[in-house]
Amino acid sequence: MSRSSSSPAPKVYGWCPGALRPMMSGDGLVVRIRAPLGRLSQAQARAIAGLSQQHGNGLIDLSARANLQLRGISDQSHAAVMAGLQDMGLLDRDATTESRRNILLSPFWQPGDANHTIARSLERALKAAEDLLLPGKFGFVVDAGPEPQLQSCAADIRIERSGDKLLVVADGAQTGCPVEVETAAEAALDLARWFLDQGGASMGRGRMRALIARRAAPASHSSPRSSSAPEPSPGMTAFGPLVALEFGQITAEAFARLADHGPLRLTPWRMILVEGAPELATLPGVILDETDPRLQVRVCTGAPGCLQALSPTRDLARDLAPFVPKGQVLHISGCAKGCAHPGPAPLALTATATDTFDLIHHGKASDQPSIKTLSASALRTAPKILTEGS
Ligand code: SF4
Repeated sequence: MSRSSSSPAPKVYGWCPGALRPMMSGDGLVVRIRAPLGRLSQAQARAIAGLSQQHGNGLIDLSARANLQLRGISDQSHAAVMAGLQDMGLLDRDATTESRRNILLSPFWQPGDANHTIARSLERALKAAEDLLLPGKFGFVVDAGPEPQLQSCAADIRIERSGDKLLVVADGAQTGCPVEVETAAEAALDLARWFLDQGGASMGRGRMRALIARRAAPASHSSPRSSSAPEPSPGMTAFGPLVALEFGQITAEAFARLADHGPLRLTPWRMILVEGAPELATLPGVILDETDPRLQVRVCTGAPGCLQALSPTRDLARDLAPFVPKGQVLHISGCAKGCAHPGPAPLALTATATDTFDLIHHGKASDQPSIKTLSASALRTAPKILTEGS
């Protein structure tokens, strides 16, 4: 990885926070909620909003794995939050089970369809597989609709459609193993065991993509994959309105008001599907318009919410969004880790100190900059500098 010369190397934790194993951040504990099937009833959503308001800082993130994160939880109130989640049926029996149950499901599932059936089977199988000691970030994708939609989402094992076939795919491979709806979950667990047997994990870390770069997938993985459908935009769908959250975050108050319209399905696109709602009221930080310029900006938590952040990021994102050329993406990162957009972006700003950023063209947050040490005020005064010479 080429590194921006003016940004210090970020710390890599190698695990994700959960509810039972929260992570300390700059604004308190981050408590991550992995909703089964990525769905919250209206009562669950309102109760989560209440926990955020009572015990956190009133801000809720939606992660790229369709998990919610309550922010600003104190050590003292963590137990009360766990009790609240337990009452809602949203708590696993222990942190290991919670970590293993890392399933991202297409939000467009219907009761009894292939997505729903496979996700349920996989959830049961993972809960029962106590011998399966997978790395902390190891995850599964269930994407068995008419065409794959989650290929750009990080995962180690994918269950996805390819034409009239259903495939289990090792991330990084161009082919997969044909399975049936009834056998998909077990085949996914077999592939997870193969990953461990092949030495894919070491010291609790390791990803399937890295293993596949070193050795081929099993011989039975010979059916070609289909390519992914584009990421959806906010707007009405056959299942209800799909709304984007400004920079992947929402206030607890707006979250509760969103749930007044119907059960919520969490997506990996920083969007929420409001099940069956005919229309929505305008809510702060909730984007209904697919042309909203904020959709062209990817921005991480930044300071003070992230302990590693060298600068605040979100206000700058709000101010620069209208100046991002149509069809392009601006990534603003509080450090070189680039959590909000791990891949390259046409435009990237990486913090190097408080309100000071390196500008990278067509690269990742950690890549060599085109222009170093731009101040946030200079960017606000002359946002054209973003695209000059790009
Ligand atoms: S990229 Fe942002 S959220 Fe990720 S570690 Fe750096 S400052 Fe924190």
